[in-house]
Amino acid sequence: MKVLHVCSEVFPFLKTGGLADVTGALPQALDKFGIANRLLVPGFPAFIESLENKIIVKEITNKFGASSVRVLFGTLNGVEAYVIEAPELYNRIGNPYADKDGIAYSDNYLRFALLSWVAAQLAASLDQEWVPDVVHGHDWHAGLTPLYIRSIEEYTGIKLAKTILTVHNLAYQGVFPDYVYNELELAQKYFSVDGLEFYGQVSFLKAGLYFADKITTVSPSYAIEIQGKEQGCGLDGLLLSRAHDLYGVLNGVDPDVWSPANDTTIAKNYEIKSLEGKSECRKALQSHTGLEEQDDKPIFVVVSRLTEQKGLHLVVEAARDIVGKGGQLAILGSGEKEIEEAFTELATEFPQSIAVQLGYDENHAHRLIAGGDVILVPSRFEPCGLTQLYGMAYGTLPLVRKVGGLKDTVTDSSLENLDDGIATGFVFDAFNIDEFKSAMRRAFALYSRKTEWNRFQKIAMAKDFGWDVAAKTYIDIYKS
Ligand code: ADP
Repeated sequence: MKVLHVCSEVFPFLKTGGLADVTGALPQALDKFGIANRLLVPGFPAFIESLENKIIVKEITNKFGASSVRVLFGTLNGVEAYVIEAPELYNRIGNPYADKDGIAYSDNYLRFALLSWVAAQLAASLDQEWVPDVVHGHDWHAGLTPLYIRSIEEYTGIKLAKTILTVHNLAYQGVFPDYVYNELELAQKYFSVDGLEFYGQVSFLKAGLYFADKITTVSPSYAIEIQGKEQGCGLDGLLLSRAHDLYGVLNGVDPDVWSPANDTTIAKNYEIKSLEGKSECRKALQSHTGLEEQDDKPIFVVVSRLTEQKGLHLVVEAARDIVGKGGQLAILGSGEKEIEEAFTELATEFPQSIAVQLGYDENHAHRLIAGGDVILVPSRFEPCGLTQLYGMAYGTLPLVRKVGGLKDTVTDSSLENLDDGIATGFVFDAFNIDEFKSAMRRAFALYSRKTEWNRFQKIAMAKDFGWDVAAKTYIDIYKS
């Protein structure tokens, strides 16, 4: 079976969040089970520069605002990939979606329409040597893919590939004003409630959710939550109506990137049988961040986008308590100014106990996850969440809110669960400071019992969050 993944980010080339970790690992995981995968990505500089053995598959002129478009084919880290070279649309400084000041590019609808349009052309034999059976789009950036495919099918009467859309985060929808519609090269009839129209606007994500043969999201709980008002972001009605085609498939951890035994970026490797290396990583973290050296109270770490979704104002509110109890806090993230400032002020006030690094830094993320004791993920909502999985793999116990993928992957340290040997972290339910603090108190209490803590760490580290289970589930969905 041939599967084309359509996406905008792929680790290690370009990453703004968990989406890239998934698209960086899933093709190889599927490959192990005999699926022939290819990627299709926009020609952002990171992809153009990394594409090896490239050939030109097709040259097109004047498409979606680009005078010249070349569909290239080659390999990215050994994975076969098509890259759409269209410098006017993609060759820009900044992240894939916004300029260096964080302002979304005003022509994003054209930039990502082209991505989906090329995907549909590949389904319609643009590359006659490789025609996909399934086109698997990721997030709103690929949302128009099933619609462009549908539109070609209706025009030609020929059936093309089946389509899947995976929602990595329903909150990002690719919604644009109605007047962009006539630049998308789609028949007027699709601009309707039974199509991509969303309260009078154009929604790329809705197009995908409406027209894809199957929809997946990244955890079973999130698949249910998005069918309700609270987390449905206005699309709950549509998702509910498509419930029989909607699956929750939990993301995995890529052991080549996130494994304490092989991680080349951390101070000392370690594994479940001997955790001495973890103590070295802990010391290295304290020394690198200027935190006072101590080992009798836990270090709480955060590696996160600093957005409302992530619930980090609970951490801001609890920070003084952490310091008051002798604990430490090390943060890495970037995002909303207000949260950045709140953390920076705390670090200035408590330099020996709170360390903050703003920005994106892959090596520091590994340093924190290896050197910390507890990783905080108190999200308001969380489609899957990856850092809690990385935390468990490194014996850094997650403290999470009981929501979405966090709920599906972390087992609370209740007395019963500790007794049964199944606890892997600290889970709180209602989104409020009291519940958060009480989970934190449990972390302090358990940390002071070193033997129990070690046992607890080993149970978390032994959990298997490899990609095999997810790959097999995706294959079942492709086959269906
Ligand atoms: P989301 O996709 O919502 O941002 P996930 O937990 O699914 O959240 O994935 C986040 C990914 O991004 C993880 O690989 C995490 O390590 C990484 N990450 C987040 N913030 C940073 C940062 N400031 N520097 C380095 N890596 C980061």
